[in-house]
Amino acid sequence: MKYTHLKKQDSAVYKALLGEQKRQEEGVEMIASENYVSVAVLETLGTVFTNKYSEGYPGRRYYGGQEFTDVVETLAIERAKKLFGAEHVNVQSHAGAPANLAAYAAILKPGDTVLGMNLSHGGHLTHGHPLTLPAQIYRFVGYKTEADGTIDYKKLEALAKKEKPKLVLAGFSSYTRQLDYAKISAIAKKVGAYSMMDMAHIAGLIAGKAVPNPVPYFDIVTTTTHKTLRGPRGGMILCRAELAKAIDRAVFPGVQGGPLMNTIAAKAVAFGEALRPEFKKYARQILKNAKTLQKEMEKYGAQVLFGGTENHMIMLDVVKSYDVSGKEAEKYLDAVGITINKNVVPDDPRGPMDPSGIRIGVPAVTTRGFKEKEIKLIAKYIHRALSSKGEVKLLNNIHKEVKQLCKKFPVYL
Ligand SMILES: *Cc1c(COP(=O)(O)O)cnc(C)c1O
Repeated sequence: MKYTHLKKQDSAVYKALLGEQKRQEEGVEMIASENYVSVAVLETLGTVFTNKYSEGYPGRRYYGGQEFTDVVETLAIERAKKLFGAEHVNVQSHAGAPANLAAYAAILKPGDTVLGMNLSHGGHLTHGHPLTLPAQIYRFVGYKTEADGTIDYKKLEALAKKEKPKLVLAGFSSYTRQLDYAKISAIAKKVGAYSMMDMAHIAGLIAGKAVPNPVPYFDIVTTTTHKTLRGPRGGMILCRAELAKAIDRAVFPGVQGGPLMNTIAAKAVAFGEALRPEFKKYARQILKNAKTLQKEMEKYGAQVLFGGTENHMIMLDVVKSYDVSGKEAEKYLDAVGITINKNVVPDDPRGPMDPSGIRIGVPAVTTRGFKEKEIKLIAKYIHRALSSKGEVKLLNNIHKEVKQLCKKFPVYL
């Protein structure tokens, strides 16, 4: 890609951009929440739609000149509705966190109780971490996974009856099993609570019909658009028709001002891609790659958490598997060009700054064309790096092999 104007005008930013581009090409990207967007999506992000103020919604904006912004926002909405079978969609959330904040604001009053997944068991920061704004406004109570990695829905029901939440929340950012949507939404109904699924991590798997769709079961479904869904960085809210007004008002003017129209246009382009048959193949390949990674790591004797994976990622307890901390594991893998993140394990005794686990995801490498054969190689590199005790020569040798593999699978070049 050429950036002729940027190159001439601002060499500092241009240089950083070239570095980042090279990093993304030469490294194995296994952060479970990242992906590579298409060139069409990249192009759309850099368009003049960024110049336009479009407060309001298609057909009812506050400023004039909306004939083309209305077109792209309507396309994004209609395509998202078709992808997920939703009654109403709001595509204006700037990211996943403000989408969740708006969803809470639409249905909850300050002080209301929310039952969500405990953060060390896979729940996201926005599901009640004490440092977040939602946790200061609402009362979050966490439910946990069992030793075998599943959720005990009888226990969840008992907890819901005791805590009397106004919202039962499903969804996660570091959990690897399929949730029982019917059971969770039934529990919410029983206690008179709203139900919400945050599908940020698995939206692409759902769009590609590789895993079940939560939309028919929940009052509200929130998501990011940049993880497995492979669109621009952004958020989105899907909901039942009767909540449409409350959701739209909570997004604007509740939480945000003007929407990012270049991003919304890029969302439309990405959703168009996700509607194509190739995207189903992509989603299925993600599942196969993640399963292969799990099986290979188990062959090497590593401790895969939650009893394995049914989505796009695996969680490893690296303390138990390799006698290294999550932070050390991240460092060793960085040294060989494999990017992952340290992660807490359920009820982690070590705490979040240097936890016991790592999270490894396959959406980005699947986009660049890795299949089972390459995943087996990657598993070998991961195992060798984590067993290396930080030996520099060993890590350098693995790094060379990683670079060679990446060269065979260019992303943008
Ligand atoms: C990533 C994620 C978010 C937050 O998305 P941002 O775009 O980073 O704000 C919210 N919920 C879940 C479950 C996530 O995985």
